[in-house]
Amino acid sequence: MTDRSLPSAEPADAAERRSRKPVVVYPNGTLAAPDLDRLGKARETLEKIDEVIVPPRDGRTFTVPKGYFFRVVSVDGPQVGDLNLWNANDLNERFFSGKTRALHATHVSVGDRLWSTLPSLRPMATITHDTLAWYGWDDDGAGVHDVIGTRCDPYTNRLLGGGDYHNCCHSNLCRALSSARGMSFKEAEPHVHDVLNVFMCTGFTKDTHQYFMKASPVRPGDYLEFFAEIDLLGALSACPGGECGNSHSSDAAACYPLKVEVFRPDMDLLSGWPFPRRNGYVSPV
Ligand SMILES: [Zn+2]
Repeated sequence: MTDRSLPSAEPADAAERRSRKPVVVYPNGTLAAPDLDRLGKARETLEKIDEVIVPPRDGRTFTVPKGYFFRVVSVDGPQVGDLNLWNANDLNERFFSGKTRALHATHVSVGDRLWSTLPSLRPMATITHDTLAWYGWDDDGAGVHDVIGTRCDPYTNRLLGGGDYHNCCHSNLCRALSSARGMSFKEAEPHVHDVLNVFMCTGFTKDTHQYFMKASPVRPGDYLEFFAEIDLLGALSACPGGECGNSHSSDAAACYPLKVEVFRPDMDLLSGWPFPRRNGYVSPV
């Protein structure tokens, strides 16, 4: 990392400059909140219509119609999942991890939404249930379900001297999309993007502000549930890091499958739901 042991000379008013108050960039209350009461009534009527098992160190896709729900479920053992989402009808609109982080927080839970890329910038999915919501923030400053990591990938692994490993989440997601859409790996790769790290427990170290991970608190039966605000194509990788408490990008960690379940609610309960349109901004030139 950068050597900060020799800082530049402090100006005379350094203390005054540091004392300015932080301001939340996107203030709470300015983003329209989802109607969780109504979604709560709809989720009482859920009927499972599909299920996909994601094998360890591999990826699979799934589709969720607008207005339906889906869950990422832990089965067999503690396991982290790397999630990508696309507009099922237009792969150019995909999950925007950075803006989701800026609008909500470094980690997401119930009531937060997964936003899509510019120029659409609309909620793709709303989180409606999280059995790990109890975890909150631990003494290390870590939380669960982050939008700060990117995804493990073979390029960074090689860069850091780890050799060539072919089952990183990036590769698993590329292969899953490639097989779902009849594309080559090379055609699918540019569509794969920064993920929601489902069940992953992460934070920044307090002294050096470096990204860290620790063993996920997830246990079999835990799940993270979403409401699809648009027609979704999803891809999930069961990370080779398993619970991500030690290493990743190798076959060293114990690794388990993940399950994706898709549910249909009583759609009458969602009559008139304000399904989001693409963002209305138009550039003047
Ligand atoms: Zn991974």
